[in-house]
Amino acid sequence: MLFRVFSRYELPRLFDIFSAAARVAGPVLLEQGAKGPIFGYRDIERFEELRLDHTITRMSAKSFFLPHKEELASFSIDGESWEKSNSLHVTSPVILMGVHPCDINALNKLDKVLLKSDYPMPHYAARRENTFIVGHDCMPEPGCFCRSMSTDTVQHGFDMFLTDLGDKYFAEILSNTGYNFLDGIVTEEPTEDDHRLFRDKAERRNSTFAPGVDTTDLNKILDMEFQSDVWQKWGERCFSCGACAAVCPTCYCYGVEESVGLDMKSATKTRRLHSCNLVDFARVAGGHNFRPEPHTRMKYRYYHKHRGFVEAYEEPLCVGCGRCGDSCLGGITVPEVIQSVRTEEFNARTQA
Ligand code: SF4
Ligand code: SF4
Repeated sequence: MLFRVFSRYELPRLFDIFSAAARVAGPVLLEQGAKGPIFGYRDIERFEELRLDHTITRMSAKSFFLPHKEELASFSIDGESWEKSNSLHVTSPVILMGVHPCDINALNKLDKVLLKSDYPMPHYAARRENTFIVGHDCMPEPGCFCRSMSTDTVQHGFDMFLTDLGDKYFAEILSNTGYNFLDGIVTEEPTEDDHRLFRDKAERRNSTFAPGVDTTDLNKILDMEFQSDVWQKWGERCFSCGACAAVCPTCYCYGVEESVGLDMKSATKTRRLHSCNLVDFARVAGGHNFRPEPHTRMKYRYYHKHRGFVEAYEEPLCVGCGRCGDSCLGGITVPEVIQSVRTEEFNARTQA
């Protein structure tokens, strides 16, 4: 890894260099919500739109790589002949700016399943290859528990990572392309003072985290507590709306739909992200539903993320971003569920 520092006044120039090379996307202010500003990733035309001071975005960077809905193939029939068309939907390269450590770590987790497994997903792989990621440091928000999930810092999965040191940026560079981009602006070798500023920033950030949640031996505890009453109690609060999976940067379950045109001359195959909390997730042909009740589906979600994935990949499928808790109509948050399973006590903090 290479380190450089550059003045914050160089950032607009770097943005211009990015814009000349590719489509640029990053966090922008979407609207002022009741609880504060709401940010989201969008294409960016002008540097002034870019909000590197953003709080957690409503949807994560996952949407650039694994969209909610995507056509996989289309078919057309003409008399005796037929044609199939399938596209990876990859156009120009994308430079994605301002991605926080948790969201880069989420992509690294998705990579294990969608890129590096025996059956990689070509659409995801093509976009991952085609995207240059510029990470950015952040300050923890009340709902963040990334530190408990060991995803508060990131070591790989980006091309360049910027830490805001006040009047300058500290850049970590992981790719040749990143290094070449920085060649277009004035940068310097970091000095001992820059190293100290970097360490001070890390210490300030670490002291801002809320206590978090104890995940020690969580996969084993989940094994022990499969029949615990707390699942039933949390399930009673779940509306099975699927919002938690929709906003989650690590959820990747999907369904494939096939639809045939009324004229019987065309058809499409579409992938749509699914949620294990939706009532039909475990319904099979013949109508049997393996998880008919909300608590069985919710339990499955936690067992996949904090037990099954840990057994397969030695890490949980959760980065502690807190988005699911923020969007849950039932007020269900991951730290509270984990804590209640550990203690076998239904957490009363959000109890109605
Ligand atoms: S967002 Fe909350 S209420 Fe909706 S499915 Fe997820 S846990 Fe249940
Ligand atoms: S489960 Fe919740 S906290 Fe964990 S990564 Fe998904 S949205 Fe974030």
